[in-house]
Amino acid sequence: MKIKGFAMKKIGEVGWIEKDAPVCGPLDALVKPLAVSPCSSDIHTVYSGALGDRHDMILGHEAVGEVVMVGELVKDFKPGDKVIVPAITPDWGDVASQAGYSMHSTGMLAGWKFSNFKDGVFAELFHVNEADANMALMPEGMTLKQAVMLCDMVPTGFHGVELADIQFGDTVCVIGIGPVGLMSVAGAKLRGASRIFAVGSRPNCIEIAKVYGATDIVNYRNGDIVEQVMKLTNGKGVDRVIIAGGDNDTFIQAITMLKAGGKIGNVNYLGEGDFIKIPRVEWGCGMAHKTISGGLMPGGRLRMEKLASMITYGRVDTSLLVTHEFHGKEHIAEALELMHNKPKDLIKPIVYFD
Ligand code: NDP
Ligand code: ZN
Repeated sequence: MKIKGFAMKKIGEVGWIEKDAPVCGPLDALVKPLAVSPCSSDIHTVYSGALGDRHDMILGHEAVGEVVMVGELVKDFKPGDKVIVPAITPDWGDVASQAGYSMHSTGMLAGWKFSNFKDGVFAELFHVNEADANMALMPEGMTLKQAVMLCDMVPTGFHGVELADIQFGDTVCVIGIGPVGLMSVAGAKLRGASRIFAVGSRPNCIEIAKVYGATDIVNYRNGDIVEQVMKLTNGKGVDRVIIAGGDNDTFIQAITMLKAGGKIGNVNYLGEGDFIKIPRVEWGCGMAHKTISGGLMPGGRLRMEKLASMITYGRVDTSLLVTHEFHGKEHIAEALELMHNKPKDLIKPIVYFD
C-alpha cells in the first residue's frame, strides 16, 4: 500500500510525495492524523539544513490521531482510539533511558524520530514505536486544538522551566515568547516564579504572555535586553533565564543578566554556527555558579498523561496558542509557510485532516 506525505525533498525544498505505508512491528501502532501542527523545528530542519541533508523525509512531529492498527504485543490501545503522540518517542529499553535521558536513547537526540530519523506525521498514516510507552489516550472533553499543543509546545516550554529549576519567588526572564516560550511563561508561573520578564516583539505574543503570567514585557527591538532587564531590576538581574528564542549570542545576554548562582534552561534549537560564546567576566571568570542546561523535550506516555491532566483540570489553556486553523491536509504547505514567515498575527497554526 502507498501513502501520501508532505516531505522535505532536500534542503530548502518541500512537497507531497508518495511512499510505501509504514510497517507495524509487534510493539508498535499505525496512526491516522486527525490534526497536526508544523513546528519552528521543521523550519530549522528544512531551510537551515540543521540536521544535515534529508531526502524525501516526511515532515512533522506534532499530531493527534486515530489508531488504525496495533502490533500483537500492544496491550493498552486498539484501533479507533484517539491518541496524543509526543514529538519524542524514545526506545525505553535503551541504557540512555535507564539513565534518565530517554530523549537520547540509541544516540544523542535519537529519541526524536519523527522528521529526523524516520518519516514524520504529515502523512496519511504514520508509525509509532513502542505504542504502549509512547502514546496517550486523548482525554474525554479535550479538543483537538488543545491536544495538539501537548505534542511539543507544552512539554518543551515546561522543560525549559524544569531545566532552569524555577523555585518559589524566583525572578525569571523568558527570552522568546513564541508558542514554546509562552508555555515557559505559563510553566514558570505554575512553578511559583514571582516576577516574569517576557522577551519578544509580536503584539499577539505579548498579549498572550501577559495572560499566561508575564509581569513585565521586554521588547528586544527597543534596545539591549540586558540593559532593559538590569534597569527594571535595579541592577540586580534575575535568578533564572529560560531561552526559547534568539540566536547563539543570546547566551551572552542570558549569562550577563543572571545573578551568581543562577540557572539557564535552554530549549531553543540552535540551527546555525559552530560555537556558543560565554562571556568570561560575567561568568565570574568561570566561578560564578551560573549553570547552563539545554535539552530536548522528554516524551513518553506518562508525561503526556500528566500534562493532559493539567489541561483537563484547568491549569493551562493551550487553545490560546492556536491563531490559525485549516481544514484539509492539502493546507499543510500553507501552514508550514506561515511558520517560515512568522507573520505578526501568528502564534501557532494547526491543520485538521478532515
Ligand atoms: P518562534 O519563532 O515562534 O518564537 C521565537 C521567539 O524568540 C519570538 O518571541 C521572537 O520574537 C523571539 N526572538 C527572536 N529573535 C530574538 C532575539 N534576537 N532576542 C530575543 N528574542 C528573540 O519559535 P517557537 O516558539 O516555535 O520555538 C522556539 C524554539 O524552540 C525554536 O528554536 C524551536 O525549534 C525550538 N524547539 C525546541 C524543542 C526542544 O525539544 N528543545 C522542541 C520544539 C521547538 P518576535 O516576537 O519578534 O517573533
Ligand atoms: Zn517541534
